[in-house]
Amino acid sequence: MATPARYRMEELSWDEYKRRIEAGAILFLPCGALEQHGYHLPLGTDVTIPLCLALRLAPQVNGIVAPPLSYGYKSQPLSGGGQHFPGTTSLDGQTLTWLTRDVLKEFMRHGATRIVLLQGHMENTFFLIEGIDLARRESAAYTGKILLIEWWQLLSSPTLDQVFDQNFPGWELEHAALVETALMMYFRPELVQTEKITAEKVEHPLPYHLFPYPPDMVTPSGSLSPAHRASREKGEALVEEIVAAALAILQREFGEDTAS
Ligand SMILES: [Zn+2]
Repeated sequence: MATPARYRMEELSWDEYKRRIEAGAILFLPCGALEQHGYHLPLGTDVTIPLCLALRLAPQVNGIVAPPLSYGYKSQPLSGGGQHFPGTTSLDGQTLTWLTRDVLKEFMRHGATRIVLLQGHMENTFFLIEGIDLARRESAAYTGKILLIEWWQLLSSPTLDQVFDQNFPGWELEHAALVETALMMYFRPELVQTEKITAEKVEHPLPYHLFPYPPDMVTPSGSLSPAHRASREKGEALVEEIVAAALAILQREFGEDTAS
């Protein structure tokens, strides 16, 4: 029986990993969070989605998926519900920056020249960018390319109009809502408790940050917009669009030979 192909870094031996990296493998680093996602989605939603996307992409581009960064930057009230929910377990920005920098410096030392951070938790973005910047500054001889992709940026306006029936609330209030629920229904349906979906939403989001923020600013469940119109079919269509857009980016940035 042929050995099935392996794409997860932690399942490879060091010499297999070395050979694949030297052959130009794309190294994916999924970045997420451990954060409340309403009553109906698991705490690991933000890391599950980029990990599943990376595992979809890797076989198509001679990729390797590194163990994800499963903790993220602090949950903000109007993009993740805030820090007061049990289970939400966050890093200081400096810790995430250094974690990112340290892991990237190791990938650079291994000779990885095509690195993709696939990001699933909005609050992480600038700390990941800072980690990338510090790693590059400290590795002046490095000639490879690093991409940071936020999966939600790959969905087109026509798709969002269709999925939301022209009522897209904006990505920040989409927390634990329609899109994340649909993606989880597609990738990990056994983890979605559809009977616990609420109709709650943030009615009047403040157009500024406030410390401390009023506890009633966020819904009791932690979902910031309703998820009841999510479906596995919508999830599948969204995944198809994200994967196609990501493949086009990888080909544009890394060249034709990315296709395996
Ligand atoms: Zn999320």
